[in-house]
Amino acid sequence: MNHTKSSYDVIISGAGPVGLFLACELALAKCSVLILEKAEDPHLPLKQLPFGIRGLSSPTIEALYRRGLLNELEIHKIIKNPHANTVQGGPRRQAGHFAGIPFHDGDIDTSQWKYRLPSSTETILISEMAELETILSRRTEALGVEIKRGLALTSLEQTADEVTVQAGDQSFRAQWLVGCDGARSIVRKTAGFEFAGTDPEFTGYSAKVDIADPEKLKPGRNPTPTGMYLQSQPGFLIMQDFDGGEFHNSEKPITLEHVQKTIRYISNTDVTIKALHFASTWTDRARQATEYRKERILLAGDAAHIHSPLGGQGLNLGLGDAMNLGWKLAATIQKKAPKGLLDSYHIERYPIGAQVLDWSRAQVAIMKPTPQSRALHAIFHDLLETRDGATYIAGRVWGIHTQYDLGNAHPLVGHSVPNFEFEDGTKIGEQMKDGKGIFLDFNTNTSLKALASEYEDQIKYVSGRAKEQFNLSAALIRPDGIVAWASNEELNEPAFRQAANLWFSK
Ligand SMILES: Cc1cc2nc3c(=O)[nH]c(=O)nc-3n(C[C@H](O)[C@H](O)[C@H](O)COP(=O)(O)OP(=O)(O)OC[C@H]3O[C@@H](n4cnc5c(N)ncnc54)[C@H](O)[C@@H]3O)c2cc1C
Repeated sequence: MNHTKSSYDVIISGAGPVGLFLACELALAKCSVLILEKAEDPHLPLKQLPFGIRGLSSPTIEALYRRGLLNELEIHKIIKNPHANTVQGGPRRQAGHFAGIPFHDGDIDTSQWKYRLPSSTETILISEMAELETILSRRTEALGVEIKRGLALTSLEQTADEVTVQAGDQSFRAQWLVGCDGARSIVRKTAGFEFAGTDPEFTGYSAKVDIADPEKLKPGRNPTPTGMYLQSQPGFLIMQDFDGGEFHNSEKPITLEHVQKTIRYISNTDVTIKALHFASTWTDRARQATEYRKERILLAGDAAHIHSPLGGQGLNLGLGDAMNLGWKLAATIQKKAPKGLLDSYHIERYPIGAQVLDWSRAQVAIMKPTPQSRALHAIFHDLLETRDGATYIAGRVWGIHTQYDLGNAHPLVGHSVPNFEFEDGTKIGEQMKDGKGIFLDFNTNTSLKALASEYEDQIKYVSGRAKEQFNLSAALIRPDGIVAWASNEELNEPAFRQAANLWFSK
């Protein structure tokens, strides 16, 4: 058995987007990180166009922007005009969907989002998994993270001081292990995390095929009495078969004959599949680890929660985990964490994950091929045509409403900080590349700098008048961009210290 290095601060199992982003956060804070990745080739077919397309929501876009990664997304396009359709003579642009029911740009009343500024980043972008992983891999390498590809973690053991993992014939040690190894996480299973939730209603298929008689299938998204099929591009099929997840669970090979039988059944046609290039299945099983931490082992991303890809939130949820966990774990390793900081990861992220699971369950409930679901679907269709309905759904899908329960001292506390724009044109989000906390002083009272400096290199002091600052005088922003404290009054030092001491130590 080989030990390549005596010990790392953190081993991450899985170089998917969540593992890579977490590694960046840890390395930014100067932690030593090893990533073990099972696959030799990061660019599996399902990570490339068109199946690799992912909708990035507001918290993810903000996270990439704040760490200086957003501009590197070359293929990103604002989802403003993917499916223009025409209603009452005017073009309406689809801005997203709920259970396949579209909602439209013009119906969304952004004035209801009080703290979103015009200088904010986009609310939604589309990106490709493969591209996102390439950008994140490049950043991890630049930050000195070691990635070993083609080496799967197979077993683990933890003591009070460290975790030892086995991968191939090698063994590695670290203070902490984070399982970012996806839905079938070995870390989760081996460490005995409970994974609670609900069973699937359907098997979903993503398949690339050659069709002999494509005219037999209708274009667009087609709910049918037995399921749903969609051709996103010629030959790229997505199907939902409400078989209770039976085929997916059987782990049988996905043959051409099976794909043909399924599409014929769902579309009620005799369409012929000539060739099958690749296929993958997924379900709406919705499960979540009841704890995200067991002593020195943590879970993030799909390893911690799974749900159907409807509404496309899994990647965003996982990257949110990584942004929340990175600085807390780094501070713990560097002995700068106040009591309870690391446990706040589960406390904050578990409820957000639970909401996303419920969001996906709600969509399945109205997509089922039953008369009851069809009736509910029609009602939701009408609701999404209303301004309040579209605004509510957009706010949820785009993550605008995400807020941690950090007490209610000020309405901004627990929210992502608005992208305040200073009078010289710079924006607060541009000051977050180094992953430090920020004490934002709008009144440029330089004596407050001393207060921030008590927290040494953990809190940066930034001062200046903003073009729109919602009557705030000062705010404390955590390294993940969440407002920890805010005030409209003259600075109340004890209140500030009390808030700062929850997240930072002197
Ligand atoms: C069809 C489909 C469409 C989707 N669309 C969207 C969308 O639009 N928006 C969105 O937000 N989400 C979407 N998702 C969900 C999103 O893709 C996942 O939530 C996201 O990829 C999770 O990232 P992750 O890093 O946690 O896990 P993964 O991307 O699964 O990465 C896990 C990594 O761990 C590796 N690994 C596994 N086992 C081991 C081991 N034992 N040792 C070492 N490495 C291991 C794997 O090889 C893999 O590279 C979609 C999912 C599907 C299936």
